[in-house]
This record gives sequence, structure tokens and C-alpha cells, in this order.
Amino acid sequence: MAKDNLSAVLYGINDLRLEQTPIEEPDQGEVLIEMGCVGICGSDVHYLVNGRIGDFVVREPMIVGHESSGTVSKLGKNVKHLKVGDRVAIEPGVPCRTCTFCKEGRYNLCKDIVFCATPPVHGSLRRFYKHAADFCFKLPDHMTLEEGALLEPLSVGVHACKRANIGIGSRLLILGAGPIGLVTLLVAKAMGASKIVITDLLESRLSVAKTLGADDTLLVKREYTEAETVQKVCELFGEEPDKTIDASGAQASIRLAILATKPGGVAVFVGMGAPEVQIPLIHALIREVDLRGVFRYVNDYADALDLVATGKLNVKPLITHNFKLEETVKAFDTSKSGQDGVIKVMIHCN
Ligand SMILES: [Zn+2]
Ligand SMILES: [Zn+2]
Repeated sequence: MAKDNLSAVLYGINDLRLEQTPIEEPDQGEVLIEMGCVGICGSDVHYLVNGRIGDFVVREPMIVGHESSGTVSKLGKNVKHLKVGDRVAIEPGVPCRTCTFCKEGRYNLCKDIVFCATPPVHGSLRRFYKHAADFCFKLPDHMTLEEGALLEPLSVGVHACKRANIGIGSRLLILGAGPIGLVTLLVAKAMGASKIVITDLLESRLSVAKTLGADDTLLVKREYTEAETVQKVCELFGEEPDKTIDASGAQASIRLAILATKPGGVAVFVGMGAPEVQIPLIHALIREVDLRGVFRYVNDYADALDLVATGKLNVKPLITHNFKLEETVKAFDTSKSGQDGVIKVMIHCN
């Protein structure tokens, strides 16, 4: 009898099925992983609901999931730094390693990157999955597989904070208190930011942000004018914040990042929304506000792991719901609903 490899396969819009797929053999430099935990990401839900993100379209059935961890169960040839039984966090994007972006160390910009659950590449929400061994990070014994899976969104926060040059004395405005806004908050605190204010449209999310250490929160209301919102931000900081990280992707929020950031400051954009938005560019340029994009992460996994392993931050409170692999459809419904205080839904594959 073939070994069980139950997998979560997205066939099309709102058509997610659980079915058996073949277990792959690890090639040279790869390991086979018995999957432990896979977190549901906003992008997974987006593919389920819309069948695409920008130019990435689900044309063929695709296994979902990319925020994951597991236990090494088989080694391909020439794998030196891992052994069977090691618990690992899986960095989901494997670049070509030879282009100029890769060689310059900005492999997140590699045009040939193979990224889990970005069509047409299959993801990791299944019992067994193989991956490049050098993109697997061994977890210390005191770290859980849940924490290992959370290194993926946490790495986005690490990269965003590095792009914003967060350090001691930074006064940071974070726009959006969803999972990415919250991990950015945790990382910015660990990097020494002196004051962090986070905004959202939902009070429930802001109360989570407070428990995670936000110095202040701002409930943004749709009836506020832009000038009023900027004013409220400035009141909370005493003046304009010198850094802003947008983790929402909404036009109103992107505009606020530009309008509220101090002259000479930095506005970083992590959230992905509509492909085109209207922004007050002149307001950025006459005040020399640097606008910087963030795409995933690059060389950030090891740092994210260290932050958790050394206890500098705690990602566990982000997990609000747990499901078994067999309950994947229900898990996605929960994540999609945004109800019941959901932040991060974790699926247990085993
Ligand atoms: Zn993700
Ligand atoms: Zn490359």
C-alpha cells in the first residue's frame, strides 16, 4: 500500500480538495520532510477566493500552503547540515542561485525563484514534501513546530524592519494590525524602536496589538478626513513618526504612510492591494520621504529564528485557531471569515 500523502489541492475558485498525491523523492541537495505545521497566509486565502494574485493565476490544480515546518525524514545526496529526525522551518522560496540578484544577495528578486504555492509551483500543505536542504533551518529543541511555521510571516516583519532601518530611537507607525502588522510590531520592538503606534479599522485587532506591546493604537474611522487622521497620528507621537510601515495595502493607508511620515523619513510598503493606487507623490518628494518596497524576505529566516530562539519575541499569541490537515476546508473558512478574533490559523499535518 502506498504511504498516505494527503494533500490540500486548489482546483479553482472556492474549490479546495483533499486528495492523495505521490510522495516525491528528494533530489541531490534536497530533503524529504514529514510536514508538521502549516499556517494559512492571506495569499493562500486570496488564491482560494480569487484564483489569482496579479499575474499569478491558478491554471492547474495546485497544492496550497507555504508557512511551514516539519521533520526531516529522508536525505538526498550531498546534504551535510541536516539529518533524519531534525525539525526544520522551511523557507518557501528557492532562487536560481546564479543570476546577478542571487549573487548580490537579493535572491528575493530572482526572476527564476521557485516559491511554494505561487502558481504553478505546488505548496507544502500535505503529509510529505521535499525541499532544498539549504532553505531548511534546523529548530533548536526548545522551539515548537508551530513557531517554526511562524518564521515565515515573521521573516516578512524582519525584512520590513530592516528596509525601514529600525533601531534604537525609531518612532514607528505601523498601518494595519493583521498578522504582518503584528509580526512587524514584535520585530520592531526587538530591534529597539522607542515608540510604536499601530492603526487598524478593527478595535479587536488593536487590542491584540496592545497585548503584544504596541505603545499606542489608533482606530481609523472611515469618516475621518486624511488631514484628521494625520493629525491624530502626530498627536500620538508628539510630532510625525520618522518611519512608517504599511502592512495593509489599502490606498487610504498607503497615502497615510506618505502624508504622515516625517520629512527625511522612510515609508515602507509591505501590504499588497490593488495593482494601481493614487498617491500624493509630490508630498513625498518635497519632503524627501523615501518610499521603499518589500517583497517577501531575503536572508531573514536565520534572524527570525534567532529572535524566537533567544526569547526576544514571542510569536505564539498570533495563533488563534488550530485544525488538522483533514479539516483544511474548515480551516480556510475560518481564516477567510475574519471572525472569532482570528489572526493566524495553524494546520497540523500529522
Ligand atoms: Zn505567507
Ligand atoms: Zn537568481
